[in-house]
Amino acid sequence: MGNVPPPSDLPPSFWQASAPPFRDGRDGRVEGEWDVAIIGAGFTGLSAALAFAKAGASVAVLEAGEVVGEASGRNGGQCNSGTAHDFGALVSAYGIDDARTFYNAHRSAVDTVERIARNEGIECGFRRCGRAKLAAKPQHFAKLEAAYDLLREHVDADVSLVTPERISDEIDADGFYGALVQETSAQLHPARFGRGLAGAAAAKGAVIYEHAPVEGMARNASGWSLTTPRGTLSARQVLVATGGASPQSPFGWFRRRIVSVGSFAIATEPLPTELTDRMFPTGRNYVTSRIIGNYFRLAEGNRLIFGGRARFTLSDPASDIKSGRILEKTMRTMFPALADTRIEHCWGGTIDLTADRLPRAGEHDGMFYAMGYSGHGVQMATHMGEAMARVMGGDASANPFASLSWPAIPGHLGKPWFLPMVGAWYRVQDMLH
Ligand SMILES: Cc1cc2nc3c(=O)[nH]c(=O)nc-3n(C[C@H](O)[C@H](O)[C@H](O)COP(=O)(O)OP(=O)(O)OC[C@H]3O[C@@H](n4cnc5c(N)ncnc54)[C@H](O)[C@@H]3O)c2cc1C
Repeated sequence: MGNVPPPSDLPPSFWQASAPPFRDGRDGRVEGEWDVAIIGAGFTGLSAALAFAKAGASVAVLEAGEVVGEASGRNGGQCNSGTAHDFGALVSAYGIDDARTFYNAHRSAVDTVERIARNEGIECGFRRCGRAKLAAKPQHFAKLEAAYDLLREHVDADVSLVTPERISDEIDADGFYGALVQETSAQLHPARFGRGLAGAAAAKGAVIYEHAPVEGMARNASGWSLTTPRGTLSARQVLVATGGASPQSPFGWFRRRIVSVGSFAIATEPLPTELTDRMFPTGRNYVTSRIIGNYFRLAEGNRLIFGGRARFTLSDPASDIKSGRILEKTMRTMFPALADTRIEHCWGGTIDLTADRLPRAGEHDGMFYAMGYSGHGVQMATHMGEAMARVMGGDASANPFASLSWPAIPGHLGKPWFLPMVGAWYRVQDMLH
């Protein structure tokens, strides 16, 4: 097994900069015999840790950097009900029964986040605001209408359509031609949620080691031995919850199946409420219908968080700034009223994509795993961490993605060399359709 790269040296996201710190990490050596070791302290690992601790298991979390230092603390804070793929495409690929299972898992994942935040008293601004998918071209509205019909017929009565004539009821911006609204979607402050989750897990007995990258794993008499620069521990069971953040990590089998891709965001200065009440009368989460689209929402302090893929590349400090400039330009074009608004934060992070944009969870070679949420991990990572605690406790039915195979991506060894080509292809698709 190779060396794990140092934890991310990216500047903090707006969320990480505005949440109380997590102070309950365990100092000293990594050691001991545990029921469960979890690798990664994002939403997946932390929600599993909380579930295990509540069930009375001894659980250690090994995190390369800091609690929610990667995607879980760097995302758009949208906790949406739908799948990454259009529901119709899921039905065509997997049939109606599986498509329904996958959609329902995404929808009930929002309930999971709400339940955990409420039960653990985590103040993270969770709010059922609904998500509006905005048609960015006139012809996209017909696709939203078709999606609306399918969703209502099979899985979701809580969707509604906003016609092109009524779009100003949802948003005051040029260039949108109707919307599909999923009413059960929510928003939250992800770093408050994640650090609160870590605090709740630690309070119930989970031990969280930060700055403890797992560099090696081997079988031993009690199950597994996990090596970090801070020491070695043994565990009966292991959950790999490493997201997409470390393409050079020791877990080669996962590296060949997950495509790590950068996603980027900016946050404005606080905006006057008279302005935002006019711009966003319904105060929802918003995403646009282009393949290389944008997502945005208001956050505490009445700032606009505006994100997107911007460039098909990985996140690093220089890349985040370049991407932030693209996002700034797009935001000012979309909302001319923000022409002189100051941008106060700019950050990036890594999304863990699968080839079909559905999560994967299960067991490989005796290691359990959950990852590949493809931009929908705020709710799915939280949901699947908890689900995997049940699976590892013997309830295989808790994994809604158990039926999916997971072949390696041909030619992919961990570094996504093909991203510029994929980006170029998507740009052409966005121009044509
Ligand atoms: C800019 C951006 C915007 C996004 N917006 C949204 C959104 O609005 N809505 C949504 O649903 N999803 C969004 N996502 C995706 C979502 O944030 C992720 O899917 C989710 O947070 C994944 O959680 P995770 O716990 O699986 O992984 P992560 O949060 O990536 O956590 C994995 C952890 O594992 C650690 N790790 C890796 N290797 C090792 C090792 N060898 N040893 C020890 N630790 C290791 C990492 O340091 C990391 O902390 C966004 C992502 C980004 C980057």
